[in-house]
Amino acid sequence: MNVLGRITAMPTLPAPLKGLREVAYNLWWSWNPEAQRLFEQLDPGNWKRFRGNPVKQLLETDPDRIAALAEDVSYLGHVEAVVESFRKYLSSRPKSTTPLIGYFSMEFGFHESLPIYSGGLGILAGDHIKAASDHGLSLVGIGLFYHQGYFRQELSPDGQQKEVYDEQHPEELPLTPVEDAEGKPLRVGVEFPGRTVWVTAYKAQVGTVPVYLMSTNLPENAPDDRYLTARLYAPGQEMRIQQELILGIGGVRMLRALGLAPTVWHMNEGHAAFMGLERIRELVASGKPFPEALEAAASGALFTTHTPVPAGHDSFPLDLMDRYLGGWWDKLGISRDEFMALGLEQKSWGPVFSMSHLALTLSRAANGVSRLHGEVSRNMFRHLWPGLEPEEVPVGHVTNGVHTWTFLHPELLGLYRQHFPPQWREQVEDPELWRTEDLPEEDLWRVRNSLRAHLVREVRSRLFEQRKRNGEAPARLREAEKALDPHALTIGFARRFATYKRAVLLFTDPERLVRILRGAYPVQFVFAGKAHPQDDPGKSFIKDLVAKIRDLGLEDRIILLENYDISLARLLVQGVDIWLNTPRRPMEASGTSGMKAALNGALNFSILDGWWAEAFNTRNGWQIGDERNYATDEAQDTADAQALYYTLEYEILPLFYARGAEGTPSGWLNMVRESIKSVGPRFSAARMVRDYVNQYYIPLAQRSARLSAQEGVRLKEIAAWKTQTKSQWSNVRLWVENRGDVMVNGQGLNLRAFLSAPNLPENTLRVELVVRRSSGDLEVLPLRPAGREREALVFEGSYLPHRPGSYVYGVRAIAVHPELSGPHEVAFVKWA
Ligand SMILES: *Cc1c(COP(=O)(O)O)cnc(C)c1O
Repeated sequence: MNVLGRITAMPTLPAPLKGLREVAYNLWWSWNPEAQRLFEQLDPGNWKRFRGNPVKQLLETDPDRIAALAEDVSYLGHVEAVVESFRKYLSSRPKSTTPLIGYFSMEFGFHESLPIYSGGLGILAGDHIKAASDHGLSLVGIGLFYHQGYFRQELSPDGQQKEVYDEQHPEELPLTPVEDAEGKPLRVGVEFPGRTVWVTAYKAQVGTVPVYLMSTNLPENAPDDRYLTARLYAPGQEMRIQQELILGIGGVRMLRALGLAPTVWHMNEGHAAFMGLERIRELVASGKPFPEALEAAASGALFTTHTPVPAGHDSFPLDLMDRYLGGWWDKLGISRDEFMALGLEQKSWGPVFSMSHLALTLSRAANGVSRLHGEVSRNMFRHLWPGLEPEEVPVGHVTNGVHTWTFLHPELLGLYRQHFPPQWREQVEDPELWRTEDLPEEDLWRVRNSLRAHLVREVRSRLFEQRKRNGEAPARLREAEKALDPHALTIGFARRFATYKRAVLLFTDPERLVRILRGAYPVQFVFAGKAHPQDDPGKSFIKDLVAKIRDLGLEDRIILLENYDISLARLLVQGVDIWLNTPRRPMEASGTSGMKAALNGALNFSILDGWWAEAFNTRNGWQIGDERNYATDEAQDTADAQALYYTLEYEILPLFYARGAEGTPSGWLNMVRESIKSVGPRFSAARMVRDYVNQYYIPLAQRSARLSAQEGVRLKEIAAWKTQTKSQWSNVRLWVENRGDVMVNGQGLNLRAFLSAPNLPENTLRVELVVRRSSGDLEVLPLRPAGREREALVFEGSYLPHRPGSYVYGVRAIAVHPELSGPHEVAFVKWA
């Protein structure tokens, strides 16, 4: 058929079931299993096929079945309870303490039925939104609706990955089209070379937080343009810049069209950085000069980076920038060179425009996603603040967290509820409320066994389906039905197959591995993961893994499941005993899957990288290797593999199988309790969102209001001061009397420094003594102004080390305006 359009007929629900519809269109159900159960009961077979999508379920359920349920007293009771709890949730959120926050992200992972995420970044964004709703934050999400989504992975028997893109119809999803006053799709235009691309949006309501997902799939666009938002991370730099223009520029315009005016603008990754350009353009169009417009736009913006390696940052060749952003410098009232300087980076092959650099230029707060990643990021972006020491680079961190209610298994939730204080449900970030010591050993063990058994059943069924689809022999199908032992120690490893994640580290010493797996203690593994469609090394990793498992005859002990998505993630983190993670340090910015596992009573066994480097306390799991960086990858792989085997064989297995009289492993369960307690609250999205509010959202909102007050007099001042200081800084001279080595014996180092800084306001100049102890600690001490000698300002000070040791020191001048976001917002630094 030549399809002209689609017809969607929502059933008219009988009065007592009307609430189902209300619940279906709010993703609140995605973290409320009792709500999901209501939809599942409509038709369990469909429910599985539709990947738990309640809207599709309502559309496809037989009307007779609906009519019958409308008479079913027990079902109606459940509906009533769920609807009531849903309404109560919406009406009882805490009062927001912040003005509106706009949260931009290229991907959002809310639920498996809405495949607009690829992995960790998207799930994190989804959890941020869910926790923002729990918190009652005034926040709006902006992203893209990909009508072919991210791919579903199918694996052939030899591990060949096939990418399947299923067409997603918004009218069959928990989305509502955003319409204008006339009921037509609301749309905004984004300028592309030689044309305007029209963008519309669908609203996903997530608790109290709306998320607008934009799409170019509109008939008024040229056929090719309708596919701009078809797929997440579609290949090619041109596609990437196009999608990022839609996200950043289209996103701001969409918010305006909706009448929404965020005060704080949060870029989740550099993908969204073009938003800053559009916000500056608006201000320039309203009459502000570019420098003030930039200060104003940046004052409310936060940039969260998730990338630990320089090559991971998005960047575009300048000719692509010319093609797509060619008109922009005129709109902003600056030159092409000034425009390019906003994001310019020199690579070995020439200059590029870096989205992370742009995001840093157009924000006044930035953060990494774990303590270690904050440090890695400060070093990575150091070159943008020349003259500062790495720890002074103004990039902080908020460690990621996971949405407790999305990932905690209902059975465990029941157990926790029984034994934790009642306020726990609303204050999940408070460690005091996680009374894991009160969880009875037998109950905890019973639930753990039940979750493992559930995992084993589900692995069998998935493996069966996987093999059946691949046309494998009946014997192989029968094996699948008996795969795994529900009582054996079960280890999960699931993540993107990127080489740095080292999925095959386990196979470094095959003989040793086989010896452990065929030893006295039963142990089994479940692997899963996708490789990015363009990542050929990642794909061959999967085949390699399959070949290794087969060659070693370990197919009964190591299972590889296809299509790692949120639902498989939930299944694995809830059912395994050990969560294994073997990234090459420090390549894991944070990682969050291990947090989900710990929440469910699994123990982490991981490289001290990302979040685990700050969570591990020797009593809540195991480390692999230590906090050392190795000279070569091979050396690190060998050392880490040896550590892995040793700990597994001599610590983990004996502890798991050390059973008391009742058959419970007390030592193991004590570690489980410690793990739940130390990870559950601290690595929750509730804690994460609270940190964002206190560290960033509130201060940014306050500062940006202050700068814009009184017709932006402070903005003008800062902009003028930056321009002036920049133009004069090369004339600044700093020299120091009595420099050189000193031996301190009771008496300190005395310094006199002279600063010549013509045409710069004295009150913004500081001279500092910077001391670094050989162990690495940095101290910065201001020198006192001590008048003037001829043309120079004089500064004095003395320094006596607190304790013996060897130190290096230097003296520097910096310029700091009192209205800046911090002393190192901009690096005007001159070392003597
Ligand atoms: C939690 C989650 C991730 C993030 O996992 P890490 O490997 O810890 O970064 C990725 N994919 C899915 C489907 C998840 O649920």
